[in-house]
Amino acid sequence: MEMEIAISLRVSIAEEGANLNEICAAVKEQVRGELPARVGEIIIEGVQENVRDRLTRPVGRSAKKGLGGHECKGESGVRCRFRTFRREGFRTEPRRVKTDVGRLEFAVGYVGCCGCGKKLAPILDVLDLRERTGHSESLEAVVSEVVSQTSYQRGEAEREARGSAPVAKSSSHRWIAGRGIPDSCPEGSVFAMADGTGFKKWPGERGDLRVVIGLNQGGKPRGLWVYAGESWESIGQDIRAKLRASQVQLELLTVNGEPGLDEHLAGVAAKGSQRCQWHLPRDLSYTLWKDGVGLEERKQRSTDLADLLGIEIPAGEYETVSEEDKEALRERVRTSEQEALNLIAEFEEKGYAKGATYLQNAFDRLFNHVKLWLETGVIAPRTTSILENMMRELGRRVKKLGWNWSDEGIVRIAKIILLRHYDREAWDSYWREALGLRNRCQIQILSLEWQLV
Ligand SMILES: [Zn+2]
Repeated sequence: MEMEIAISLRVSIAEEGANLNEICAAVKEQVRGELPARVGEIIIEGVQENVRDRLTRPVGRSAKKGLGGHECKGESGVRCRFRTFRREGFRTEPRRVKTDVGRLEFAVGYVGCCGCGKKLAPILDVLDLRERTGHSESLEAVVSEVVSQTSYQRGEAEREARGSAPVAKSSSHRWIAGRGIPDSCPEGSVFAMADGTGFKKWPGERGDLRVVIGLNQGGKPRGLWVYAGESWESIGQDIRAKLRASQVQLELLTVNGEPGLDEHLAGVAAKGSQRCQWHLPRDLSYTLWKDGVGLEERKQRSTDLADLLGIEIPAGEYETVSEEDKEALRERVRTSEQEALNLIAEFEEKGYAKGATYLQNAFDRLFNHVKLWLETGVIAPRTTSILENMMRELGRRVKKLGWNWSDEGIVRIAKIILLRHYDREAWDSYWREALGLRNRCQIQILSLEWQLV
């Protein structure tokens, strides 16, 4: 079907004229603010008229294709075979829907089946608008988008600037918590990192949010999986199952010293895990403090460890690095590992039990990134800083939303934030799918004319 809409605007301008800002302000308020909703309503009105007309005219079935299907009156589950209808009146109350172009209001017209007598409102089927739904999914898309970026208050301003209908904070959170946002696909991920953070949980408890990200060969991160209220052990099992299902092999997992994480997750990557080289010296200092070691010595030990960890991977293409240089690097790893062992022995001798245990536990995860490079030429991340930035950002946004989340709710909002910020393509395609956008309505501006009155 095709329709032409004539839009006529009255523009009142003071005798001396109006400056550019005043013109833009008026355009923003009426043309960008008010007009879209009115245009939306009138398109719906036109579509409804066309559909009711087709259903009630004595034309062949082909003109009614896909329209007017219904269950027989009073017999649920039985499809009515009639496709002849008569025109009936309008619903007394107009239908109101909040959308991303503002509040729409339209009269709902009925047709009655000549066979079974059932009354239907075909426009609701065409619009794919369920009964009792007060808003469009396109409005949910806008809300998810702004909420993933800013606090609720700033999100409201942003939403208003986009011209969408106002949404109460509780509704926006309910919508988000009800959205089944998909996981990012692990395909293309070569490395992974995992970390956890606390969050304010309903009612006033603290929850544990745990995030696993994947990184591609170039080190670009993407949120893979989000968990709340689950142990690292069950998370490890879940990740292994998901990797198997998607046939993705991770090379290395970079982790900080979070308890339980390394133990249960190292196995998800072929070369196991790499302990974050930034955390190691810092955390060593902390464990030595628990051993009662003084500040000066802690600083020294921390620097010693940082020095022995600081093995640089040669710059340039892997293939162009000579076999001799590679052998020298292998030697350097062996020496550094020996130094680490010496350090452990020294700690034990001096009675620094916690420091010794700490280093012992991390020992076979000190240089896995160097070993991986020596074997494959792949350069893995040596610190978890990229994930820490992501977690900080996530925590900040969740906190700003100012809500007490359930485990399920926090997982969903975290997925939304991660998908929107680190996998824009998947985010866009999720919404294209969810909104059923198939380009079936296109608007072209035919003409705009003016005359002085
Ligand atoms: Zn019928």
